[in-house]
Amino acid sequence: MFGKIEHLGIAVRSLEEANKTYTQLLGCAPYKTESVESEAVDTSFFKTGENKIELLAASGEDSAIAKFIDKKGEGIHHIAFAVNDIHAELKRLEEEGFQILNKEPKRGADNKWVAFVHPRDSHGVLVELCQEIEE
Ligand code: ZN
Repeated sequence: MFGKIEHLGIAVRSLEEANKTYTQLLGCAPYKTESVESEAVDTSFFKTGENKIELLAASGEDSAIAKFIDKKGEGIHHIAFAVNDIHAELKRLEEEGFQILNKEPKRGADNKWVAFVHPRDSHGVLVELCQEIEE
């Protein structure tokens, strides 16, 4: 089952600049910053009530975030939904005809298994499924 919107991902050019802006905007500092080397991104997370804001900046030229910003500029990059069984949801979505960008969930930021649905299949919005990693 899909749960709440876990976070919104926002693509930014400079994590440092964006951290300052969002700290002022939200009135609180990020509770976590994390580099995800497999994705070539640096991230930071802010709590906003039950939800979170994830800022993403490219840490290399081949980062998907660099390509996104080249094409579209800064802005909302993805919507992440919390799911309780990511494998079951991916199977269901594949059967429904959605293209999943990574069929095996991968380790994302903030201690989550993550997988993405191609934005072409969801009216232009990159959808992330995320499930807390329990070990
Ligand atoms: Zn995310």
